Amino acid sequence: MLNKISRTEKAYLALVKSLPCSVCDAPGPSSAHHINQHQQYTCVALCYDCHQGPMLGWHGQKRAWLTRKMDELDALNITIKRLVELHLSSLPKSRDVNSF
Ligand SMILES: [Zn+2]
Ligand SMILES: [Zn+2]
Repeated sequence: MLNKISRTEKAYLALVKSLPCSVCDAPGPSSAHHINQHQQYTCVALCYDCHQGPMLGWHGQKRAWLTRKMDELDALNITIKRLVELHLSSLPKSRDVNSF
């Protein structure tokens, strides 16, 4: 059951993968790094190097992360920020989010 991904989760993952890398800003498409296995909404958008790279990557020696003093939550913060920006830029201009 845990491995079953819902349509909403699939859509979310596709959005995350369209983002630039949350660590080094390399343009997308990125891969989605799961902070917790089976939890789709805490995925981080990462380029290959920052994700799987044997030297730079999270699953390697983490050098890209260490030089920037970043951990998974720092990267998740950036992923979510970019998703919200994406969402805001898709809203009609008349809906000013600053005036609610
Ligand atoms: Zn990167
Ligand atoms: Zn990963």
